[in-house]
Amino acid sequence: MSDSDALTPFLFEGQHLRGEMAHLDASWRAVLERRAYPQPVRDLLGQAMAATALLIGTVKLTGRLTLQIQSTGPVRLVLVQCSNNRRIRGLARWETLPDSGRIGDLCPNGTLAITLEPEAGQQYQGIVDLGEVSVSEALERYFAQSEQLPTRLWLAADDQRASGLLLQRLPAEVYEDADAWNRAQQLASTCTPAELLGLEAPTLIRRLFHEEDIRLFDSEPVAFRCTCSRQTIERVLQGLGHEEVRDIVAERGTVDVACEFCGQRYVFDQVDAEALFSGSLPATPSRH
Ligand SMILES: [Zn+2]
Repeated sequence: MSDSDALTPFLFEGQHLRGEMAHLDASWRAVLERRAYPQPVRDLLGQAMAATALLIGTVKLTGRLTLQIQSTGPVRLVLVQCSNNRRIRGLARWETLPDSGRIGDLCPNGTLAITLEPEAGQQYQGIVDLGEVSVSEALERYFAQSEQLPTRLWLAADDQRASGLLLQRLPAEVYEDADAWNRAQQLASTCTPAELLGLEAPTLIRRLFHEEDIRLFDSEPVAFRCTCSRQTIERVLQGLGHEEVRDIVAERGTVDVACEFCGQRYVFDQVDAEALFSGSLPATPSRH
């Protein structure tokens, strides 16, 4: 198995059906290196990462897509973000896990939200209940509600790779081969998680759909990249307020913030911290 970190689009010739396969290798391991996720959390985050890569290849967007699972715990948050140039990052927050790996026990009262933030124009958010279903089923509901396109997903993750397969039926006046959509879903459903994780996209797609006329497009690279910066952290500190930041500096000497996605540390000493508020506040008594 070679590292690929790629999104591979394909279509069924003449069928108004498209598909896509996502493989995340180094980008997935970059996420795993930053935190020791227990297996049920890791599996959920990996599926969410693969799904997010598939979504960025599916929705027409110049900007950022966020997939967010929230619940009342133990897995409180799964958060994955990907830009249209396929730079992806993700994290999960959890507490003591139950013995059961069922999604309803890991994420009680769970919701799955997809947020599209275009560089220009209106932000859009669609939310579906997670309930007792898998991430893939919740996303199928999302597509039915928000995009009104019949869409199916198959997702898998282990400690090396996160993979996903997506099939989508495109709008058409007439479907000449009325059974093509059913047939494609049935063939894709024969794919095991081991195959999804172990086989490269061209091999798996040809194997699953060998009797169909498939056009495979060039793979598009996906990479881990965090979008945090000193400026984004500065805005967070400004949001905390002058008093709060001043208290932290008084207590600890510096404000030391680590990015939750990538682990990058940002340190603000007393002068840096005061400078954050120098433009926005009336002159404060001299501290010299
Ligand atoms: Zn970061």
